[in-house]
Amino acid sequence: MRATVIHAPHDIRVQEVPDPTIQQPTDVVLRVLRACICGSDLWAYRGESARQPGQRIGHEFLGIVEEAGSEVAGFAVGDLVVAPFVWSDGSCEYCAEGLMTSCPQGGFWGSVGSDGGQGEAVRVPFADGTLVKLPAAAASDDRLLTALLALSDVLGTGHHAAVGAGVRPGSTVAVVGDGAVGLCGVMAAKRLGAERIIALGRHQVRTDIARRFGATDVVAERGEAAVAAVRELTGGAGAHAVIEAVGTEQSMRTAVEITRDGGSIGYVGVPHGSGTGLDLGVMFDRNIALRGGVAPVRAYIPELLPDVLSGTIDPSPVFDLTIGLDEVPAGYRAMDERTALKVLIKP
Ligand SMILES: [Zn+2]
Repeated sequence: MRATVIHAPHDIRVQEVPDPTIQQPTDVVLRVLRACICGSDLWAYRGESARQPGQRIGHEFLGIVEEAGSEVAGFAVGDLVVAPFVWSDGSCEYCAEGLMTSCPQGGFWGSVGSDGGQGEAVRVPFADGTLVKLPAAAASDDRLLTALLALSDVLGTGHHAAVGAGVRPGSTVAVVGDGAVGLCGVMAAKRLGAERIIALGRHQVRTDIARRFGATDVVAERGEAAVAAVRELTGGAGAHAVIEAVGTEQSMRTAVEITRDGGSIGYVGVPHGSGTGLDLGVMFDRNIALRGGVAPVRAYIPELLPDVLSGTIDPSPVFDLTIGLDEVPAGYRAMDERTALKVLIKP
């Protein structure tokens, strides 16, 4: 089969690799129908997070079960399924608590020895604890398939941030980050009943999507000017709930400064860079809570799936470029140069 392999920073290739096979009785082999490129894939692409030459890449995909191991109970050949961005056994204490990202038997797609999602097929370990079945009819609905793909990462991650920030009906929310995760954070906050949603971002194309997803206000400034603008919009107090979806020192510092005393920050931006941007003294004095981390999206899919299927929420606008598998290197360039927000792959 063909799959995407990272050889070095800025050196992504689509090449022939061995077909995935059933190795454990709990495995399935899945034919990928839709995959995509993630902002967090760009850290490997830019050399900011280490990868071994020859590693597979990609962690967001959905597709059709082609083969199932003898102990797989929940899925059969032909089922349409979506995969969260980590696999998990579904039976340990962490999985039972809904923290599949800490599953001791779990793993990250594309880690050494595993398949990545940006290819024609994937071996899925612990299929029963990992995959979620989708209605067969969705396979012929192009827009719906695109919306469902967001369940594998960005929609659940945006939701995780909104939950961490303590968004509830009537909340005033601010969202730091106008990438796909930040935009899904806006959508998640709206879905949880936020009354006012302030989106921080300066790319019109993206902030237009933020408004479509429920943002009531947009702040284009950055740094101290952004803090002043958010405070002005909130009568000087700041927002009850703040979503941080970037992971830089600057974005975390802004998040702290725009949070109302007694408020909470839900952070899901993969931390990178030297410092944290967190001033514990300030957070202590102002009783600001911080909650979040890598999102256990498998725990959220059952809750979010019905709303995507019914069209109550439609995250598909975050995908603004569609490519075939052979164009994946160009897709990485487009996201790296920010000419594309999120790239959809049809293998
Ligand atoms: Zn587990």
